Amino acid sequence: MCGVFGVYSGNDYVAEEIYLGLAALQHRGQESAGVAWIDEDRRINVVKGMGLLHEALDQSLLSKLTAKAGIGHVRYSTAGGSHEQNAQPIGANYAQGPVAIAHNGNLTNFKELREVLENRGAIFQSTSDTEVILQMLAHQPKRRPLEALCRALTGVSGAYSLVVLIEDGLVAARDPWGFRPLSLGRKGSNYYVASESCAFNLLGVSFLRDIEPGEVLLINERGLSSYKIPSVTKEARLCSFEFVYLARPDSVIEGISVYRARREMGRRLARSNGGERCLSSASANDADFVASMPDSGTTAALGYAEESRLPYESAVVRNRYVGRTFIQPTQRVRELGVRIKLNPSPDLFRDRSAILVDDSIVRGTTAGLVVSMIRECQTKAIHLRISSPPIRYPCFYGIDTPSRGDLTAAKHTVAEIAESVGADSLCFLSKEDMIESIGLPRERLCTACFDGNYLEERVESESRRACERIFD
Ligand code: SF4
Repeated sequence: MCGVFGVYSGNDYVAEEIYLGLAALQHRGQESAGVAWIDEDRRINVVKGMGLLHEALDQSLLSKLTAKAGIGHVRYSTAGGSHEQNAQPIGANYAQGPVAIAHNGNLTNFKELREVLENRGAIFQSTSDTEVILQMLAHQPKRRPLEALCRALTGVSGAYSLVVLIEDGLVAARDPWGFRPLSLGRKGSNYYVASESCAFNLLGVSFLRDIEPGEVLLINERGLSSYKIPSVTKEARLCSFEFVYLARPDSVIEGISVYRARREMGRRLARSNGGERCLSSASANDADFVASMPDSGTTAALGYAEESRLPYESAVVRNRYVGRTFIQPTQRVRELGVRIKLNPSPDLFRDRSAILVDDSIVRGTTAGLVVSMIRECQTKAIHLRISSPPIRYPCFYGIDTPSRGDLTAAKHTVAEIAESVGADSLCFLSKEDMIESIGLPRERLCTACFDGNYLEERVESESRRACERIFD
């Protein structure tokens, strides 16, 4: 996850807009936040801190800052721990001037690249994969920053949606596979780049287009200049999990409304009762109503209710003042977080049978705790419905599921999961229904965490050679 935001503006007050843009992207990362800009002395400035946006950044300080361009970041750690030194943007002043980078994604070959760079004398300030890109720039001191960035990206594998600030302007870049979304918007003569289009709505910015997979886009006073990263791949793989869980429902990614895709997942889930991913030892036909795990399960639950002609009830209440459980970094914090965050309404569950829709089961923590809280309400039955296929494989492209051991569906059958979370029945959406709900061609989507179909990655030695070539 992580959210990135960038502005190139004709006026001097971009910091407040970056703050507001990051506020709309807060769901993509809650561990730290930061903003970077170039000052009148041509030096990079970075302000960042731990926690939610309002905890990490002093808004009144930002309102006094003047700069024509800037970038921002909200972080959820996937490579490198949740520490202040890993907060982003990462900035530096090097031979070619100031530079700052904010990154959403995960570089799959960053350990090999880091080793090559360390052998060339690089001293790293963080354990984040993003710093590798910055160091690759700094190790090409004679090349202009944009050229150095393009060359650096030819040696990088994995997922990156980047906003980069250099003296020549604001740069947006997306990996050749297009794993993570990245949108371009415009208001008057100002240009905006954001992880999701929902950040534009807040600022009255018009969505122009997605940054293309493999595109490097320079934005400055001359307008837009687009370049292509030379790449070994022609495949494009947008993360299907963005539509299931990660993105906000009011975002549009590659022309697809996240809300519509999610609602269709719910409809298809209601139609698919009894398939192979369904354990229906107890029938869901006796259900009195449909409820959801708010907020990420709610849109699919509305689709489920519509298709099944059952009423939708807001029977699980979410405390809005605590963050999303899945993106908290440790299991202990996650478990406590679920209890603080989600509470069933006893009146609605007592002596009634409920369909409970959630978007996914990753570790099973949320489902197990909420089902046990619902049981305490003397409910008749709980039929758990999941609007995505079982997640059986880790993600290497920017989601925190690093080992199969963390994934309950990798170790257990549907029947075992139903038993462990305490549900009377359990069904998952099929992969085919998920893809058709999204509506993009299947070869355009990454589904690796559901089917293990990873992209062929470059082997370690190839990564090293690519990196070495960059500095020749
Ligand atoms: S492995 Fe799953 S979460 Fe990761 S990019 Fe692919 S679809 Fe998205």
